[in-house]
Amino acid sequence: MTPLNQDLSELKQKAVFFFDLDGTIYIGDQLFDGILELIDILKKQGKRFFFLSNNSSKSTNDYLLKLKRFGLKVSREEIILSQHPTIDYLHKNSFKKIYLLGTSSLRQEFIEEGFILTDENPEIIILAFDQELTYDRLKKASLFLQKGLPYIATHLDNRCPVENGYIPDAGGIAALLYKTTERMPMVFGKPSKEMLLFKLEQLNLARETAVMIGDRLYTDIKMGNSAGITTCCVLSGETNLEMIQQSGEFKPDFIIDGIWTIRDLFR
Ligand SMILES: [Mg+2]
Repeated sequence: MTPLNQDLSELKQKAVFFFDLDGTIYIGDQLFDGILELIDILKKQGKRFFFLSNNSSKSTNDYLLKLKRFGLKVSREEIILSQHPTIDYLHKNSFKKIYLLGTSSLRQEFIEEGFILTDENPEIIILAFDQELTYDRLKKASLFLQKGLPYIATHLDNRCPVENGYIPDAGGIAALLYKTTERMPMVFGKPSKEMLLFKLEQLNLARETAVMIGDRLYTDIKMGNSAGITTCCVLSGETNLEMIQQSGEFKPDFIIDGIWTIRDLFR
């Protein structure tokens, strides 16, 4: 049952499916009904699919393992994390020497991408969800920022939900640096449209053929809207029907109970 009387047949015509993770594919350790079957069907029909997360405290390898534990066999290319559009930008603009505020997992990924991570004369500052941040790292970042170096954050979520509350995410760290330097970074993660468009561009896929499926209006749906991509809001996560009806700003094209509705559509 769909919550609204909608014709979902347009979704079936799509060739590219972007799925948010938390609240859309799973919650905590619980994988939602229908996703494994849906991915099988999409594979058989030759459609493309991608899983998205803003969480840049983890590397692509971390996420490959996480999804594998859920029984989802996907390739590296099918995972989009907020560091990816940033890495794409760095390659395109020939940045090499980076001062990175990020976890050792993320640092490894940047090294594998061919970047030099350094505290000496970097060309650019990158801020990620650094759960291993120290005051010394913050101090150096502040001084580099005051020199006017280019500055990018992988994403700007203010806080990250954990079991018993919230912890500071990249946006929280950016706010601290703003208090010291009065500078804010460029951002390519959700809700920036680059998070979707860089992948479509890399693989030469048309945006009209894509749909963004997610549970947050102010990230997933906003991003799809600004990228000019069809959006579908699931009610299995953060957003309920009332919140959608009251949101003047972000209107999903489709509203469904959960990912299983799309599975049912393809069955
Ligand atoms: Mg979500």
